[in-house]
Amino acid sequence: MQLEQHISHPVFKLVSEAAEELGVESYVIGGYVRDCVLGRDTKDIDIVSTGKGIELAQAVAKRLGGSKISIFKRFGTAMINHKDLEVEFVGARKESYSEDSRKPAVEDGTIKDDQDRRDFTINAMAISLNANSWGQLVDPFDGIGDLKKKILRTPLEPAKTYSDDPLRMMRAIRFATQLDFQIEQESFQAIYENRDRISIVSKERIADELNKIVLAPVPSKGFRLLFNTGLLHLVFPKMAELFGVDIINGKGHKDNFYHTLQVLDNISKNTDNLWLRWAAIMHDIEKPITKRFHPKVGWTFHGHEDRGAKSVPHIFRDLKLPLNEKMKYVQKLVFLHLRPIALVQEEVTDSAVRRLLFEAGDDVDDLMILCEADITSKNDEKVKRYMKNFEIVRQKLKEVEEKDRVRNWQPPISGEDIMRSFGITPGREIGLIKDAIKDAIMDGEIDNSREAAIAFMTAKGQELGLKVVEKLK
Ligand code: ATP
Ligand code: MG
Repeated sequence: MQLEQHISHPVFKLVSEAAEELGVESYVIGGYVRDCVLGRDTKDIDIVSTGKGIELAQAVAKRLGGSKISIFKRFGTAMINHKDLEVEFVGARKESYSEDSRKPAVEDGTIKDDQDRRDFTINAMAISLNANSWGQLVDPFDGIGDLKKKILRTPLEPAKTYSDDPLRMMRAIRFATQLDFQIEQESFQAIYENRDRISIVSKERIADELNKIVLAPVPSKGFRLLFNTGLLHLVFPKMAELFGVDIINGKGHKDNFYHTLQVLDNISKNTDNLWLRWAAIMHDIEKPITKRFHPKVGWTFHGHEDRGAKSVPHIFRDLKLPLNEKMKYVQKLVFLHLRPIALVQEEVTDSAVRRLLFEAGDDVDDLMILCEADITSKNDEKVKRYMKNFEIVRQKLKEVEEKDRVRNWQPPISGEDIMRSFGITPGREIGLIKDAIKDAIMDGEIDNSREAAIAFMTAKGQELGLKVVEKLK
């Protein structure tokens, strides 16, 4: 098959000429070829040459007029950044693995050796950059056929492929999810049987793959595969624990695993924000431990939002997700995820809306997206009613915010102000007064202004037997 159209970029001609001068063959290989054939946008180019990978990179950088080049001697690879392209060079290699590491011993090899060590047939295709076979597809495992059939298959024996480098198990599931492909039955079986090998993969690499699954168009597909292969139990056991239904007195609750997956798919239609999607994954994460059965009311999960929020930092740490403001954001959304629903169930008062705005701050819009995704009832009437109610909440949030500006609210009076005003030293009165001011503003008893707060503080202090020694402005 001829695929010249995919190597029309001038950089490929430069590689070809430089390789010829060095007396080596060169090919573009892997993800770039796959994505071109699929019509996906791609900027990462992998070049493999029959030896002299680093020299080839240096020669190409020179021809490009001195592009930025990074050399990794230890790995025998080099990378050129040229405009928006990233071109990586490596010499063709043959690999052999040992039991306890996913880092193989490598020796120089042929292009076919190099294709043998690739993870999937669709990732093992190469296009020749050599003058005598320019543009020819080199596809020893019929990757093209598998692309058409939408199948993930390993070039060599699946069990050995996954056992050698168990990261490939995560990659299989990630590609299946990103591309909506099927993992071939034998491969699936091999992943299932070799799942324990995941223990030699670093958590950071697992997190990279998880994040790619989470960002896929229909992420539930990946989590189902992780669950069905038993990998989820190893890489994210808390999520696997959501699975299952208990039945007492003929009453069951919904399966929290499948509910969570639906919430995740729902939210993925409305946002590409990785962390909002993670919030969907974690919103009910502590339902299993808060689950209770009451003969009169049935199943309850009291406090699961609070327990869930407390668990978020631990989960982030275990999964090696960043322990920064992203974690705080997910934690906040998990903590607040029931609030808008509670708002609709009761009367939507200004005071409750103000408090929600105050606590959610700028994340209130994301919170509403999460809550809407959380509606997974099969009863259409119910869904419609909830959605309408949420519309009312959104409207109310807007009205109250325009009027009172409590999003990202900062108290108009500080503890420092209170101490100066009454001439007192740190003590419990300060907290009492501060809280009272906050409540008064949230409940709409006084305006959200410094003037109103000073008057309120003065009165409150007097109730507590304090005298004003300095008039605040
Ligand atoms: P993406 O860039 O979307 O993650 P990709 O297939 O390009 O997908 P890379 O990690 O960039 O993935 O790797 C480039 C190529 O290297 C792959 O297409 C594949 O041929 C090969 N490869 C990467 N990781 C492995 C692995 N763990 N085992 C075998 N081959 C691999
Ligand atoms: Mg790539």
